[in-house]
Amino acid sequence: MNSAHLGRKTYKCAECHYQTSVKRNLGSHMDTVHLGIKDYRCSHCDYRTDTKVNLTEHINSVHLGIKNHNCTKCHYQATKKEHLTRHVNSVHLGIKNHKCNHCDYQATQEGYLMRHIQGVHWDKIPQM
Ligand SMILES: [Zn+2]
Ligand SMILES: [Zn+2]
Ligand SMILES: [Zn+2]
Ligand SMILES: [Zn+2]
Repeated sequence: MNSAHLGRKTYKCAECHYQTSVKRNLGSHMDTVHLGIKDYRCSHCDYRTDTKVNLTEHINSVHLGIKNHNCTKCHYQATKKEHLTRHVNSVHLGIKNHKCNHCDYQATQEGYLMRHIQGVHWDKIPQM
C-alpha cells in the first residue's frame, strides 16, 4: 500500500528504514538511534530531557507537587529550598549561621552556640 493514497505524509529516516507519519517521532528517532542522545519525555506535557533524574524531578515538582531539593554533595533531601540552603551552608560550606547575641561568636550548630553562651555569657542568661 502506498501511503500517498492515504493522503498522509511519511517521514523517512535518511540513515535506516524507519518511517513515521509524525514528524516529531522522526526527530526523536534520529536523536536516540543515530545520534545516541537519550531522550526522556514527560507523559504529562512537552518537557523532555536527556537524563532520567531530570525527568523524575520534573514530574515530581511540576505534576505531583513534590518539591524535592536534593543536595548535590550528599544524599540529603529537603522539601523546602531554604532547608537545603541551610544544610549546604552549614554542612558543606561551613558557613556559620548561629550568631551570639552578646558578642561576635558564630557557630555552625545551635548546640555550639548554647555551649558558648552558657560558658561565656552565663551571667546574661535569665535566671529562673
Ligand atoms: Zn534511522
Ligand atoms: Zn511534564
Ligand atoms: Zn549535603
Ligand atoms: Zn557570645
